[in-house]
Amino acid sequence: MNALSGRAVNIVGAGLAGALLALLLARRGIRVALHERRPDPRQSHPEQGRSINLALAARGTRALERAGVMDAVRPLLIPMRGRMVHEPGVAASFLPYGQRAEEVIWSVARAKLNRVLIDAARRQPGVTVRFSQACVGADARADRLRLRDTLTGVASELALAPTIATDGAGSVVRSSLAGTGALREREDWLDHDYKELTIPARDGRHALEREALHVWPRGGFMLIALPNTDCTFTATLFLAREGPASFAALGDPAAVGAFFQREFADVAPHMPDLLTEFASHPQGRLGTVHAEPWHLGGSVLLLGDAAHAIVPFHGQGMNAAFEDCSVLDELLEAHANWDEVFTGFEARRRVDTEAIARMAIENYLEMRDAVRDAGFVRRRSIGLALERAYPERFIPRYSMVMFHPEIPYAVALARGEIQASILAELDQGDGDFDATRASALVAERLPPLP
Ligand SMILES: Cc1cc2nc3c(=O)[nH]c(=O)nc-3n(C[C@H](O)[C@H](O)[C@H](O)COP(=O)(O)OP(=O)(O)OC[C@H]3O[C@@H](n4cnc5c(N)ncnc54)[C@H](O)[C@@H]3O)c2cc1C
Repeated sequence: MNALSGRAVNIVGAGLAGALLALLLARRGIRVALHERRPDPRQSHPEQGRSINLALAARGTRALERAGVMDAVRPLLIPMRGRMVHEPGVAASFLPYGQRAEEVIWSVARAKLNRVLIDAARRQPGVTVRFSQACVGADARADRLRLRDTLTGVASELALAPTIATDGAGSVVRSSLAGTGALREREDWLDHDYKELTIPARDGRHALEREALHVWPRGGFMLIALPNTDCTFTATLFLAREGPASFAALGDPAAVGAFFQREFADVAPHMPDLLTEFASHPQGRLGTVHAEPWHLGGSVLLLGDAAHAIVPFHGQGMNAAFEDCSVLDELLEAHANWDEVFTGFEARRRVDTEAIARMAIENYLEMRDAVRDAGFVRRRSIGLALERAYPERFIPRYSMVMFHPEIPYAVALARGEIQASILAELDQGDGDFDATRASALVAERLPPLP
């Protein structure tokens, strides 16, 4: 309990962050009205065109544990122990993500996870979930939150203060506040889009190694696949919108078939519905959202993708949104009103979410290009050796982000840069390195981790 117990708050968007946040706030005795554009998931099919499955990592599981829902989530998870890299013409090679058995990430179906969170939230006293309620505008000066029932068309209005907007990357709350000049927003679109495809089960089993995130890096574009509990994989093609190798160049089934036969010959035979799926599945856009400020006094706060959507290449958007929920919940322990909580949230999270936005872009280059590079593989293996020798000082950046929620993203970014310089100095080009020099560089440049 805390000073805000018994008070009411609106949350707009019962997606991953909104549902988890509703649960956390209600556990503190806050009354939550959760407004969601989609119909009740118990009476409808999941939305098309969203990523079907996601990689959940330690920052996300920590928040789910904090909310007491990990037992309900665990049956939905498939461990992914590393990347299975598929190069043309050679056997696939497996690169473990970490060095310890527990250093795995988890594949989880978005719709199922969202459903568990919504069910848990609405079992909590004080939570009301209103489906088919689309926010159509927010006005801070007039203190109005405007909604429309998507089934009946009936419009309604509520007091805006206090509202937490978790309505995702295309947030209507954010854009309408930006429209009145109350905040500034910018979307940096990538020139690459994505399309999701299916690798069906084969003889009732997964057609590829189950406990891995599969990558077909092709330099400039890539295909990835994450396992589902029904023995299928969801594959995602990331490809330029325009140009010689692009979605624009794949305008007819013959071009699609030829492209997959040429670039992804080992997996194309496992995709019998490729041509129909390619023609019918949406082509999604990818981008980074910047907004400033995230809050207007104690009246409204943007959180999750609504505040800081990122490109998906580090598998951290949901994890960061869940970490946002943990941080907000922590701040409730120390602050007596929404203004202080929202101010504290922005002060604490901005630097970290900017850091993960940058690392997510860098990871795209790593996944589609660098994993094929001998230098990258060599430096990665030196990095793992340094982690074994100096675990209290050297942890590879990927591991800091994915497995160490106690290390803030901004610290992971800063230490990652120092570590990259150490690896560049130690890499002799033959896989060997000078252990004495390594010890001196680590001691000199990397203070012990907190
Ligand atoms: C291709 C792809 C792959 C990804 N892979 C990963 C991954 O592996 N790991 C990871 O951590 N992240 C991943 N992400 C990112 C992740 O999907 C997001 O960061 C996460 O969904 C953010 O959660 P959120 O609750 O902020 O937003 P969302 O999950 O988008 O939820 C927003 C909610 O608001 C509702 N809504 C929208 N507009 C309105 C409105 N006007 N009124 C009322 N309700 C509204 C929506 O229906 C939805 O329920 C991926 C993203 C993409 C595009």
